Amino acid sequence: MTSSSDLETTFRSHTPGYWPDSVMEKWDDHKWQLRNRIDSLADLEAHINLSDEERAGVLLAGTKLAMAITPHFFNLIDKDDPNCPIRRQVIPRIEEGWTAPEELSDPCGEDTHMPVPGLVHRYPDRVLFLVTDRCASYCRYCTRSRVVSGVGEQQLETQWEMAFKYLEEHTEVRDVLLSGGDPLLFSDAKLDKILTRLRTIPHIQFIRIGSRIPIFLPQRITPELCTMLKKHHPLFISIHTNHPKELTTEVRDGLVRLAEAGIPLGNQSVLLRGVNDTPEIQKALVHKLLMCRVRPYYLYQCDLITGSSHLRTSVSEGVNIIENLRGHTTGYAIPQYVIDGPGGGGKIPVNPNYVVDSDQSKVTLRNYEGEIFDYPNPSPISEKDLQALQEKAMCGQ
Ligand SMILES: *Cc1c(COP(=O)(O)O)cnc(C)c1O
Ligand code: SF4
Repeated sequence: MTSSSDLETTFRSHTPGYWPDSVMEKWDDHKWQLRNRIDSLADLEAHINLSDEERAGVLLAGTKLAMAITPHFFNLIDKDDPNCPIRRQVIPRIEEGWTAPEELSDPCGEDTHMPVPGLVHRYPDRVLFLVTDRCASYCRYCTRSRVVSGVGEQQLETQWEMAFKYLEEHTEVRDVLLSGGDPLLFSDAKLDKILTRLRTIPHIQFIRIGSRIPIFLPQRITPELCTMLKKHHPLFISIHTNHPKELTTEVRDGLVRLAEAGIPLGNQSVLLRGVNDTPEIQKALVHKLLMCRVRPYYLYQCDLITGSSHLRTSVSEGVNIIENLRGHTTGYAIPQYVIDGPGGGGKIPVNPNYVVDSDQSKVTLRNYEGEIFDYPNPSPISEKDLQALQEKAMCGQ
């Protein structure tokens, strides 16, 4: 059940929350936010009451995917609600230690599509460039938890020069997606250098950055960052947010700064059990995103990452969410629901089925209200009708 407090539909600030008023002058400094992340059991227990499942989860996390939560994001946690949708995303639980039989450490088969360490070339004309393994906070369901945070089973060793050389040689690559980890953790100067280098490659038309920093660390979206990013257009940013509560006034202001720098914004959400697995929450989320000038882009079925069974839903729940959006709200608000084919199949769109039947002469469709409509295929014009038209045209001369 979703209580009304779970479904936060208005924008508000949560500062200073669990912190004393005296930190307010440092609050907007992203470096202060990073230095003061919650990253130990003691930090957590100083502020909120943990369940036994969470305490065990935190103790296990050190060898899998580190825990870190920015003060900004931590303030969204409801300290009295063990089912708070924010805490489920960032506080480890004991279930993470269990690997379900269907789970994989590299669920999207990225490692087998890496021609150069850090560069994933899965689709014909675009690449995923993993530029860092660090994030402002860590999501417990991260699809790259095998490398992200630096404590897991693998290390990410991005080969910068080899990657640029590959991109220079592969003239079919017209789209580069910078991701990780979170590229916006880099300094403005470092990011500028990477983007400038990519812009020297003439066949790279389009650059995107995938980042959760606008949500975890909105203080990082400074006017200086926006001014630098603007030099590298056409540049898009895909943010990652899952629950309407994440969209605070600070987040909205940061997103608007990016939009005003001419950067089109899309959102990628992951469908998560106990976080955003109802049509009501998804609808509130997409409406708030439009108000922040962000177009919902993808809704991902949660990948089969190890230790994620407590966060995954069935596919029919995802289809039901889309069914409850399409027709019922603004088309711009509706993300494409996708499943990354386990083992490296790439993104596969999954939609409610609106085609009820089809034969040679017509398709039978249902609309969002369940009404049935036939759409006939084009009828061929007969020789006789053609001839009659010819004759009519001649008479008119
Ligand atoms: C998601 C993804 C992309 C980008 O896909 P789009 O559908 O263009 O957003 C590119 N490469 C890899 C490996 C990806 O997983
Ligand atoms: S921000 Fe992205 S890369 Fe970082 S932990 Fe979350 S899902 Fe993984």
